[in-house]
Amino acid sequence: MLAPAITNALTIDVEDYFQVSAFAPYIRRDEWDARECRVEHNVGRILELLAARDTRATFFTLGWIAERYPQLVRRIVAQGHELASHGYGHQRASDLSQAEFRQDITRAKGLLEDLSGTPVLGYRAPSFSIGTGNLWALDALAHTGHRYSSSIYPIKHDHYGMPDSPRFAYKLASGLLEVPVTTVRMLNRNLPSSGGGYFRLLPYSVSRWLLRRVNQQDREAAVFYFHPWEIDVDQPRIAGIDAKTRFRHYVNIPRMDGRLQQLLADFRWGRMDEIFLARTTSPIPAAA
Ligand SMILES: [Zn+2]
Repeated sequence: MLAPAITNALTIDVEDYFQVSAFAPYIRRDEWDARECRVEHNVGRILELLAARDTRATFFTLGWIAERYPQLVRRIVAQGHELASHGYGHQRASDLSQAEFRQDITRAKGLLEDLSGTPVLGYRAPSFSIGTGNLWALDALAHTGHRYSSSIYPIKHDHYGMPDSPRFAYKLASGLLEVPVTTVRMLNRNLPSSGGGYFRLLPYSVSRWLLRRVNQQDREAAVFYFHPWEIDVDQPRIAGIDAKTRFRHYVNIPRMDGRLQQLLADFRWGRMDEIFLARTTSPIPAAA
């Protein structure tokens, strides 16, 4: 008999194209307000795609965006999605002092809760910037009232990653649940299998195979993520960037809308809080 289908977590990191960490050397933060904003239009399209499939998701939203687009925050919540935090200003947690990090997450959570009228339980660090060097950040999240984090990527990557951390959700001594983004274990290493640039780079059939493997072999829910700018073929191009950054940011953007529709059709999707906070997991304090 077939096992019942697993509901996977669909997550969107709500930020605009000029806020991505790889562009930080090229675009100053004080220039953000002068840039053409595309996020409202792009999130609108995502909401349309989700509504067409009657699917709910989790939107990790920047405080900076929420402040400027309060109506967008309300639309996300009104359509039944989970509103969660991506911090205020998209600074990597690893670049902040403990006091600065606490200030950033408190400000974002307060803003999102005030604007939406709903509690904000989840947090994702910009660029998965929590790892061995700053695990204190997880305690700060628990102390500021967050219930879960999805901030550690158990892979090796030039910008982030903590390859030896658990691949699936685990509870810390503080009570905070860490829900890593999904990897597939092959040839003694963890392969990124959960969205972002890899989803645009790899053929769709490979991404689907990886996600199915997690559902069928690991019997676990996958956590998939993407950004509103990844579906935006008309976004202003950033000039003068290095070849690697350019390739990573722009590769296969025209294919993304179709692939997302395929992904929505091929798997069952839901909100992070409904999938992970409802169930119990065993503590793994040593790894945390
Ligand atoms: Zn981000």
